[in-house]
Amino acid sequence: MPAFLAELLHARGPSGNEAAPAAVWAKAASEFSSASVDVVGTPSAALAPREGSPAPHRRLMIMGHIDEIGLIVTHVDDEGFLWFREVGGWDAQILVGQRVRLITVGGELPGAIGKKPIHLLRDEERKKVAEVRDLHIDIGASSREQALEMVRIGDVAVLDADPVELPNGRLLSRALDNRLGSFVALEAARMVAQAGGVPGWETVAVAAAQEETTFGGSRTSSFSLAPDAAIVIDVTHATDAPGIDVKEAGKHELGSGPVITRGTTLHPKLFDLLCEAGDAEKIAYTVDAFGRNTGTDADAVHLSRGGVPTALVSIPLRYMHSPVEMVDLADVTATAALIAAGALKLDPQTQFARW
Ligand SMILES: [Zn+2]
Repeated sequence: MPAFLAELLHARGPSGNEAAPAAVWAKAASEFSSASVDVVGTPSAALAPREGSPAPHRRLMIMGHIDEIGLIVTHVDDEGFLWFREVGGWDAQILVGQRVRLITVGGELPGAIGKKPIHLLRDEERKKVAEVRDLHIDIGASSREQALEMVRIGDVAVLDADPVELPNGRLLSRALDNRLGSFVALEAARMVAQAGGVPGWETVAVAAAQEETTFGGSRTSSFSLAPDAAIVIDVTHATDAPGIDVKEAGKHELGSGPVITRGTTLHPKLFDLLCEAGDAEKIAYTVDAFGRNTGTDADAVHLSRGGVPTALVSIPLRYMHSPVEMVDLADVTATAALIAAGALKLDPQTQFARW
């Protein structure tokens, strides 16, 4: 695993509290681009067009979101237990029995998501699935007063699940959705920089905040940057995990490379350009399709201002929205290479007219 990716994954950054991973990203970006961060918390990295290209220049935005799903403390009870709600979409079954790291003014704090032991459950309780409203976080406090010395209402938490490398180049971690996308956006920009930039196009890599809750970062960044084209990176369901129906999802196994999406909201010219780049560079990829929105930042980006020609490239991932998200690192590298190759196919003459 590249050191920069490891650092991004160790940083904790649920939606709205992305400062830690954003700082890691912006530091890496500043090595080869002009990096900045906006008031929403979205860092970006701008690269000039290739030297000598004729003005006016256009702007390509390469975006992956940097936030992750988490929890937010809503109440502290008299016994010192914390009650919480979701930041983003959780399956409550995944939360039961997990360790958490709370992000507080005093630093990080460990805790546990508790549930009544199986021995004590009554028959009807055993049949019931857990709901988030029935779960609590135990930080070891013995009273409300003591808990409130450590935690404030509105503090957030993530599950305590740092990255682990597995055989076959596979990586296990929380927050692969979508720290990977932010990583790939910057790595693609780095490759574009090494190639001397895109003729006639400024390239801006963006690590969007708040995707898991509101698409806040992608909406605001695509407004303020006013890109002329955009490539959004996210994760998608790897279809070689048990229980996934390829007839619904298409076939996108771990190790099969990036997934390029066709769909009603995505621009056909950019789709073709990415496929041509993959074919030319011999980067294996698969294709999936959406009839409506994609559930990613692309939904916000393509509707910005008067419309932005947008592409979506995804990395196959198992066990999405859990602390054991799994990816093949070769797919991550290939996704960055595909996007860089696609960006370098743009030129001052590229047109996006539909007809
Ligand atoms: Zn997600």
